[in-house]
Amino acid sequence: MRDKLVEFRDVSFRYGEDEPWVLKNCSFHIFINEWVAIIGHNGSGKSTIAKLMNGLLFPQEGEILINGLRVTEESIWDIRKDVGMVFQNPDNQFVGTTVQDDVAFGMENRGIPRTEMIKRIDANLNAVGMQDYRMTEPHRLSGGQKQRVAIASVLAISPQVLILDEATAMLDPKGRKEIMHTVSNLQKKDHLSLITITHDLQEVTLAERVIVMNNGEIWDEATPREIFSKKAELRKIGLDVPFVAILSDELKQLGIPMTDEALNQEELLEDLWTLHSRT
Ligand code: ADP
Repeated sequence: MRDKLVEFRDVSFRYGEDEPWVLKNCSFHIFINEWVAIIGHNGSGKSTIAKLMNGLLFPQEGEILINGLRVTEESIWDIRKDVGMVFQNPDNQFVGTTVQDDVAFGMENRGIPRTEMIKRIDANLNAVGMQDYRMTEPHRLSGGQKQRVAIASVLAISPQVLILDEATAMLDPKGRKEIMHTVSNLQKKDHLSLITITHDLQEVTLAERVIVMNNGEIWDEATPREIFSKKAELRKIGLDVPFVAILSDELKQLGIPMTDEALNQEELLEDLWTLHSRT
């Protein structure tokens, strides 16, 4: 039995008393060292979930636990040691004049001793491949490099869960792939839980589990394969499926007996090879 790191218990949230409920009775959990992707149409409540996890917002109903500790005004400083978050726009996340200052900033705020800080700056810039840019001014970096530094800054605090809220959305496909490769390696190695909020379907297929939001409610939660097999239902709630899954479906409709399982190019090719070698 895996231990729960994040737990939402019947959480409902609205941005004001006269505003509509943005989250309605949401219950779910995320295990230690698990990678969960949260998907849903724009406005379905994904970012609100992320902000509730580290006490940027508080629910009007229900409760949220991180590592068994309830998120409240009193506990947020403890909670934020465990919950690291990176957003879409890297430019809003820089405070330091150099890359290394920036990575140091979050640690300074938490009173981490200087010798330990130096160790962590080295280790985390190395981990995201930015060790050669320690003295660079953040505004000179490319979008992908900025997001790497933002991730290193968050990881330097040694959180137990890293939330990427559309953090790769502004990067080109190559930059996106590289960052997700780095982050998923760190997740496996460092026993980190990872929550990715993304529109990138290929990225979603890499997660262990997917939570699908629709109008503030949890529509479904299952493995990527299970979720993306519900193509017609997903389309009804405004979501797409990976290109490979569509292609596989179309081949099936043409009478080719595909397994309906392929989520990436390798799996699709494997499917086709298996069929070819049978004929
Ligand atoms: P998503 O991340 O899935 O796009 P959000 O959590 O950002 O969804 O938004 C959920 C709903 O809450 C949307 O209808 C959005 O307009 C509304 N909302 C988000 N932020 C605010 C805010 N600061 N004040 C009022 N309404 C907001």
